[in-house]
Amino acid sequence: MNLLDIPIIDQHAHNLVRSEVAVSRPYAAAFTEGYASEIINYHARHTLFYRRSLREIANFLNCEPQEEAILACRQSLGLEELTKLCFSAANLEAIFLDDGLQPDSILPISWHEKFLTVKRILRLELLAEQLIAKTDDFETFLENFINEIDPPPAGVVAFKSIACYRTGLDIKPVSFAAAACSFYDIKRQFEDRCPRLTDKYLIDFLLHQALLIADKYQLPVQFHTGYGDPDLDLQLANPLHLRSLLESPQYRHVPIVLLHASYPYMQAAGYLASVYPQVYLDFGLVVPFLSVAGMRSVVRQLLELTPTTKLMYSSDAHLIPELYYLGAKWGRQILAEVLEAAIRDSDLSVNEVDGIAAAILRDNAIALYRYS
Ligand SMILES: [Zn+2]
Repeated sequence: MNLLDIPIIDQHAHNLVRSEVAVSRPYAAAFTEGYASEIINYHARHTLFYRRSLREIANFLNCEPQEEAILACRQSLGLEELTKLCFSAANLEAIFLDDGLQPDSILPISWHEKFLTVKRILRLELLAEQLIAKTDDFETFLENFINEIDPPPAGVVAFKSIACYRTGLDIKPVSFAAAACSFYDIKRQFEDRCPRLTDKYLIDFLLHQALLIADKYQLPVQFHTGYGDPDLDLQLANPLHLRSLLESPQYRHVPIVLLHASYPYMQAAGYLASVYPQVYLDFGLVVPFLSVAGMRSVVRQLLELTPTTKLMYSSDAHLIPELYYLGAKWGRQILAEVLEAAIRDSDLSVNEVDGIAAAILRDNAIALYRYS
């Protein structure tokens, strides 16, 4: 199977960072979720992902497979030309960007719109942090928070939560009084500075508010699940912790997208998608960050139970445009390999796989996000 002709909807990625920010960091920093200096300055260059990617990028840019040669080539192309090349080679129809990652370092959504169609994913915790800094009382803060997302701003196709990073996925019901108490504790600590929101009561309370609004507009809510940078507790990143939220009758019709294949909890994520109508999955970040064998195993495990109507492509690309290219290349290749294996196993027929590939790379996202 060759899936290059299917234009991809990349339903979860991040804005690229400005050139001067990118060159101030080691190139290998874009290839790891770690941020300890020993990791980004040494160990990150010794993963299978990095080794493979260096050769692929060199091949793509037509230079020697060494970091120095790639950096020189990037420099002479300039970010705009490099981005154009990567987006075009990835055959992307549209990208959905969570612009809440490193908001002070990124290029705006309008910059990316020079190359292709872009939709926005609104990161709830970042919005809350910005609004806490501007308000002294909880009632006004809550009113402002709700006003910002009801109705969702133009161009927003989903909400995104990083509760997983901050306090875990065991999201609980929280009273107004408990959330207010947390708000005033944060104000005492940060005054009018923008806080880093790490309070479980307030995060969970605001998430419940946002889910009610998502229900009203049938807007999908993306949850970071599974592995990520060491800010998160991987035990609390298991999507099985979402059970009480998934069982709540009032959120039963809110589409929930579990990002990153919930790695290493793929089978748990597949189970949730197979029994809860509102649960959808993607395999971004895992593809292209793992070894080839790892990527193949993840997509295969997701499809053990997940209906093919509920699985979507994403890259989780961030920082540099090469990750969009590598994500698309390996997303297509691994999907093709897994579907071919499913034919050999007699799980699928030859006639079925083309439609399934198009659904996973494009059509499921179009339907879920009502993209047009
Ligand atoms: Zn992401």
